[in-house]
Amino acid sequence: MQATQTVNEKVQAAWNKRPLVISGPCSAETEEQVIETARRLAATGKVDMLRAGIWKPRTKPGMFEGVGAKGLPWLQQAKKLTGLPTTVEVATGKQVEDALTFDVDVLWIGARTTVNPFSVQEVADALRGVDVPVLIKNPINPDLELWSGAVERIARVGVKQIGLIHRGFSAYGNTEYRNAPMWHLAIEMKRRNPSIMIINDPSHICGRRDILMDVAQKAIDLDFDGLMIESHIDPDKAWSDAKQQVTPEALGEMISSIKWRKEDVPSDEFHSALEKLRQQINHLDDELMDLLGQRMKIAEKIGEYKKNNSVTILQTNRWNSILERAFAKGEKLGLSKEFITKYFDAVHMESINKQNRIMNS
Ligand code: PEP
Ligand code: MN
Repeated sequence: MQATQTVNEKVQAAWNKRPLVISGPCSAETEEQVIETARRLAATGKVDMLRAGIWKPRTKPGMFEGVGAKGLPWLQQAKKLTGLPTTVEVATGKQVEDALTFDVDVLWIGARTTVNPFSVQEVADALRGVDVPVLIKNPINPDLELWSGAVERIARVGVKQIGLIHRGFSAYGNTEYRNAPMWHLAIEMKRRNPSIMIINDPSHICGRRDILMDVAQKAIDLDFDGLMIESHIDPDKAWSDAKQQVTPEALGEMISSIKWRKEDVPSDEFHSALEKLRQQINHLDDELMDLLGQRMKIAEKIGEYKKNNSVTILQTNRWNSILERAFAKGEKLGLSKEFITKYFDAVHMESINKQNRIMNS
């Protein structure tokens, strides 16, 4: 592909808009469905870009695998009628070429592609010298290196405008979510890439429409740059991801009812109040670190006693009683069981490592 096209103003404006809202069906199914969805989404006035899956990577063969390239002119038509820039998932070099031939404005790499460096590289090679913005979904598995690797591969071929989509991570077993959000990973990715925009995809995190709003609000509270949410004119009859899609009107209402917060406000009073509270936090964090240091010193001493008396490091009863005490106290202090478990697991592991060093020295 030659660098023949540059990103047009309208697409650039949409890409730069905050919050950026992308919506459209999981899959393009028919020309009428794509155009009606686009019209109704545009009518809400809340949507900046139209998405649609043309090639669908499905978990099992025999599921609907997308209409393929014949759906691309439908998107072209939808853009012509509504003015909405379009975005499509690409997973191969050929799909990149087809999408660009039919003027798709923004490309996205899906979670099942980000996991595979061969595929990401193939997409990257097809993008060499092409000025098109690319969104990169997190890989299916919770691996930030893989996600970063995909970003690097796409950046290396000269793509300048890259964004991230957080769509949750696969976890074995039934949970509330289709894909566990693991917010801390998205936050860490954001911390590592401060100049790259990151939007949230509540649809693929939730897998069902009733909790979309909660996840969308949480993303906005965590200062995400926008949302990608699936919308279908007749959600229950959608050919893919039926349970998680909402009508364009419901999408519009959801976007309206989100409380949009800003990361900062230009008020001196606010800043000085915040600064004071942050100093208190710093002070308490210092104290906590000192206390943890003292706790580890005592654990080391216990290690010495255990060594001299040939006793094992781990004594399960003792550990259970520590946890029970902590849960009881934590409950009174309003600390969740989940937090207490994670915190004590980390403290306990550090203690064990320290004792292990002593007992084997
Ligand atoms: C999609 O956006 O429809 C899709 C297939 O998403 P993901 O790659 O996040 O599973
Ligand atoms: Mn989908």
